[in-house]
Amino acid sequence: PPDVEQLGRSSWTLLHSITASYPVSPSPQLQSETKTFIHTFSKLYPCWYCASDFQAWMKADGNAPRVSSRDEFGSWMCEAHNAVNVKLGKKEFDCGKWEERWRTGWKD
Ligand code: FAD
Repeated sequence: PPDVEQLGRSSWTLLHSITASYPVSPSPQLQSETKTFIHTFSKLYPCWYCASDFQAWMKADGNAPRVSSRDEFGSWMCEAHNAVNVKLGKKEFDCGKWEERWRTGWKD
């Protein structure tokens, strides 16, 4: 099986980078395609127990993908990543800073 940590770091880089380049005002079609992408991604993720927990997390109240704007999508992805951080006993990331980390760069 793939290295779950290396796979995770690479995957989060891809996922947060996608939210960083997501339109501020996405068309209804893109929003629909984005939901499909996340749904399919959660089925194809090549760590079966990670994929299974990620799908279960998305089904819980309030955790359905939010894709109506870059800000919403970026915040949602940060919350999804934090759910895994909590599961693994890692520190939660401050989601007010997702854009600084993944799009504009740190100010200091
Ligand atoms: P990562 O968690 O990979 O984070 C990389 C960088 O992202 C960090 O250095 C930080 O700068 C930034 N970051 C951290 N948190 C956030 C956040 N909330 N929002 C924005 N940026 C942030 N591993 C398992 O062992 N078990 C699992 O069940 C599991 N499920 C996963 C499910 C998914 C969908 C994905 C993509 C990964 C999963 N992983 C899982 C992998 C795990 O999340 C980590 O990627 C891996 O443990 C390596 O962690 P890391 O400490 O190097 O940093």
